[in-house]
Amino acid sequence: MSAINREQLSAYLDDALSDGETAQIEQALRESEPLRRSLRALIQERDRGEHSIGAIWRRERLSCPSREQLGNYLLQVLDSDWQDYIEFHLKTIGCAYCQANLADLQALQKPAEPQAQKRRQRFYESSAGYLNVARDTRK
Ligand SMILES: [Zn+2]
Repeated sequence: MSAINREQLSAYLDDALSDGETAQIEQALRESEPLRRSLRALIQERDRGEHSIGAIWRRERLSCPSREQLGNYLLQVLDSDWQDYIEFHLKTIGCAYCQANLADLQALQKPAEPQAQKRRQRFYESSAGYLNVARDTRK
């Protein structure tokens, strides 16, 4: 068990190991309470010391949805579980990476906007015109 050192546990937490190495560490974690303790200590240490953007990004990227999933979230075509999860990820965890990604996706979807704006404008003008007419006839 001493074969697994801090650097490897650290890489494990960063999801930076190969499948084989990850399996090996998970196996070792199952078998060794001291190793589990080391892992918990490492996680706590990281949580305390993690004030750098890079560190937070690394930690939270582990649970990030893909760009495609974010796109589907915007279109609201995901299962409600996924929709909730991504909402939680964006709003409660406040993942800066995904928020940036989402903003980018929203910008890409913008071209549809002027059309809708024009429709609203027309609707507004016709309602305003109607109101003016109504007011005029009341005189
Ligand atoms: Zn994220």
